[in-house]
Amino acid sequence: MTQTLDTALVNGLVSSADAMALEENYGAHNYHPLPVVLAKGEGVHVWDPEGVHYFDFLSAYSAVNQGHCHPAIIGALVEQAKTLTLTSRAFFNNVLGEYEKKLTELFGYTMMLPMNTGVEADETAIKLARKWGYTKKGIGENRAKVIVCEGNFHGRTMGIISASTDPDCLNGFGPFLPGYVKIPYNDLAALEREAADPDVCGFLVEPIQGEAGVFVPDEGYLKGVREICDRHNVLFIADEVQTGIARTGRMLACDHEEVRPDVLILGKALSGGVLPVSAVLADKEIMLCIHPGEHGSTYGGNPLACRVALAAMDVVRDEKLAENAERLGKVFRARMQAIDHPMIELVRGKGLLNAVVVKPTNGKTAWDVCLALKENGLLAKPTHDDIIRFAPPLVITDEQLEECITIIEKTFHQF
Ligand code: PLP
Repeated sequence: MTQTLDTALVNGLVSSADAMALEENYGAHNYHPLPVVLAKGEGVHVWDPEGVHYFDFLSAYSAVNQGHCHPAIIGALVEQAKTLTLTSRAFFNNVLGEYEKKLTELFGYTMMLPMNTGVEADETAIKLARKWGYTKKGIGENRAKVIVCEGNFHGRTMGIISASTDPDCLNGFGPFLPGYVKIPYNDLAALEREAADPDVCGFLVEPIQGEAGVFVPDEGYLKGVREICDRHNVLFIADEVQTGIARTGRMLACDHEEVRPDVLILGKALSGGVLPVSAVLADKEIMLCIHPGEHGSTYGGNPLACRVALAAMDVVRDEKLAENAERLGKVFRARMQAIDHPMIELVRGKGLLNAVVVKPTNGKTAWDVCLALKENGLLAKPTHDDIIRFAPPLVITDEQLEECITIIEKTFHQF
């Protein structure tokens, strides 16, 4: 390392080139980031160390729904950080109960279980479903199965990748956890068939498959899921880690079809992108299947996270983020569909969770379009080779969206 870089590090003035070289040299290569370094964020705006401005159209995979560094959330963070940060669950703390009451009332369940990352909440939901299966449904020891969908993304732990069908998630990491049944997404007949197996305790599903490329199921799918799960006494487990907290134009994506899952999984925007905060919600009859000592997390339910999440939920309500996402999502999709360009194959999404399917042309893929968008001041990330996800913070205004649509139009016309 050069003397110059050491001095820059001490002074906190690392350039974009230095920051990328440091990550490349010292960090594991488990991501393939766009070549841009972010040093500051505010609302929909981010800046690199040299002060170049970008619009953020990824929102940290829908974690920053409330916008970067929302003052109300950061205010809550700073206040609580000065008071009490972590107690573990060996003791009660004076914020967790208030947070649990608020979240259960907000989403209409009688209990919740706090965790940190999305994948931990998914793991928790699966453990809960298995425990319920054994204690309430009467499934024989070690026989419980959970139905999942092809193309799913629920995170990266061993227990969760075992449910995956993506070779990148699986290859080289076996042996895998048994007990999953994989069916096509958006296929009620397949669900009906598999749910009839008396060993099935739950169906884990994303209401819109986010990482797979923003796949929106047919209208009526979630209602159908609800009916099938009821018919076969199977828990409907909705992973709303990416779709929840106003992203799709409703508080939950399940709200579009007015269905209530038995087990609800939240994460990401639960903290507005400030801390890893996740939760599993269910009614007592299900939640109380887990007893003291059977599950937990040192950081889960810590007072700092609870305070942040309380503030983050207030922002969603006070700033009407679901309504904003619903309204501006319609504008966004209409304007994308109106772009007359051979690379744009399809536009789909709900609220402000949208994707443009790109037809690779003259060797140019979605990655090249994202690089060009970056040059024009807008950050989006491809998922797979041919899909660009557009998911700005939900605090985006009409004027900002208009400016961003102009950037996207201009960028496509450069190809
Ligand atoms: N579930 C869904 C639907 C997700 O999209 C993700 C992350 O993208 C996760 C779970 C995992 O969340 P985390 O990365 O916080 O573990």
